[in-house]
Amino acid sequence: MKEKACFLDRDGTLNVEVNYLHEPEKLILEKNVPEALQLLRDNGFKLVVITNQAGVARGMYEEKDIIAVHEKMQELLTPYNVKIDKFYYCMHHPEFNGECDCRKPGTALFKQAAEDLNIDLEQSFMIGDRLSDIEAGENAKCRKTYLLKSGYGIKTILANPDRPFNIAEDILEAARKIVNA
Ligand SMILES: [Mg+2]
Ligand SMILES: [Zn+2]
Repeated sequence: MKEKACFLDRDGTLNVEVNYLHEPEKLILEKNVPEALQLLRDNGFKLVVITNQAGVARGMYEEKDIIAVHEKMQELLTPYNVKIDKFYYCMHHPEFNGECDCRKPGTALFKQAAEDLNIDLEQSFMIGDRLSDIEAGENAKCRKTYLLKSGYGIKTILANPDRPFNIAEDILEAARKIVNA
């Protein structure tokens, strides 16, 4: 029996967008995140973060800073009795490392998660705030993707007027649609 997952972008989706966030004290959860994660978890979804962290390639911070931010996120979720099952991150940028398969819209991290956590990608969903999140979910053959209006969401909608998106006001609205799908 395979698991289903909700893949989650990090910056602008789970936490308020701060460019190149790497200081745990600057981590602020987006609106309704604990409730959305509880709803997904209670409906049998694994909660898997997939995030592009090119700040490492750019020399702005190190892997240990990414890990510290993820520990802080778990800490902020603790009072709500919910946690992220696993974090996956790409630390590359094509300018510095050449092309990689792990940077969204690439799918290597989705495939890794599927293997690690026994996830059926076709029963899984992706939520994010950028076109690369939506494309990554589509490339990974997720059942459906949701674009939030938080983070870069509004900019993404305006920059891609002819592209159909499943838009949600916030992560809780996306989570409600997912569990009712
Ligand atoms: Mg984002
Ligand atoms: Zn990569």
